[in-house]
Amino acid sequence: MDREGLTEDGLEAATRLAEQAMARMARERVAPTPENFAVWYAHYSGRAPDLSRAIEILASSGQAFSTQRSADLYDRFVGGRRETEAVRAAGLSIQTMLDELLSQLEAFDSGTSRYGAVLETARGRLDPGGGSVGGAAMGPGGVDQLRQLLALVAGETRRMVDQNQSLQSQLSSSNEQLSELRRNLDNVRREAVTDALTGLFNRKHFDGELRRLATEAMEVGAPVSLLMIDIDHFKRFNDTWGHTVGDTVLALVARTIRDCIRDTEMAARYGGEEFAVIAPGTDLAMAVRMGERIRDAVSKKQVVNRSRNQSLGSITLSVGIAEYRPGEPLAALVQRADEALYAAKRQGRDQVVSAAQPTAL
Ligand code: GH3
Ligand code: MG
Ligand code: MG
Repeated sequence: MDREGLTEDGLEAATRLAEQAMARMARERVAPTPENFAVWYAHYSGRAPDLSRAIEILASSGQAFSTQRSADLYDRFVGGRRETEAVRAAGLSIQTMLDELLSQLEAFDSGTSRYGAVLETARGRLDPGGGSVGGAAMGPGGVDQLRQLLALVAGETRRMVDQNQSLQSQLSSSNEQLSELRRNLDNVRREAVTDALTGLFNRKHFDGELRRLATEAMEVGAPVSLLMIDIDHFKRFNDTWGHTVGDTVLALVARTIRDCIRDTEMAARYGGEEFAVIAPGTDLAMAVRMGERIRDAVSKKQVVNRSRNQSLGSITLSVGIAEYRPGEPLAALVQRADEALYAAKRQGRDQVVSAAQPTAL
């Protein structure tokens, strides 16, 4: 088959896949955006088995493929995370380091060949007839010749030793650079997902994790709940004690939330004085108990201004909770938790309110 033929086949196959993808999107009432198209094209191409598996699981449990669901699939299986500038720079610096190492290795290699050749010449000169070293072949002036040869071999040996040492030091400095690079990358990765003031995850990471954990819960048929937590009358607190003291309270609340949750649960700073917790494997009733634990723990803390050794009283939280209804758009889940939170505010604050389950989708 010639190139022309291959291209024709590729075009036909691609057209068929594109038609299948478009037809499926129309059937599922998914908006024909480039991202959604990429999801369905990848599925029909058979080249994304993980994606196809997720689609099959969702389809077999009777889930509709909303635009939101397609976007979730795109993020998980097709788009991936964009690499940050720091990661790109790290890639470049690894490349540079590898290039330097390679050229050192090449130099070392040609040095070794040269050394081998010198030794071979020396051997040939010592033993022109192929007999034993130092035999009858050595005539008058043989000692001088031997001295020259030894000087040559000794000189080359020294060069090899030097080259070996420089390669060794290059290797150990590359090793150090790599360790530092790894530390930097770990820091960048951590900073990218962390809220600086509270040390909790940031909003951006929260959004991604909510999507991931909700999809995961749906795939394994487990519950997952969302807690929205807001500090009561925090504006008043700031107005009375100042923003800086307010900041330490945010950190205190964050620490208390973290102490009340398990490793499998994730807490994030959702907004200014608002926090969110995602609790996988947790149904509404369990999540309400968890919300009560957090509310209770915070209300028992005494806020103290250490520099003036002054008690600033205590603070309270309102909490709204919703359990994910498989298939509901994530925005709807967040909205239900938010509505429950505002109901808690309306009913007097310092309390936990759970959202009603939505009616059938
Ligand atoms: P409510 O009980 O209804 O939630 O009342 P509130 O005063 O807490 O709510 P409101 O939304 O009126 O005000 C939120 C306040 O949170 C406003 C702002 O002073 C404070 N806040 C938001 N982000 C920060 C922050 O990063 N540091 C500090 N110190 N305060 C913040
Ligand atoms: Mg508030
Ligand atoms: Mg608020």
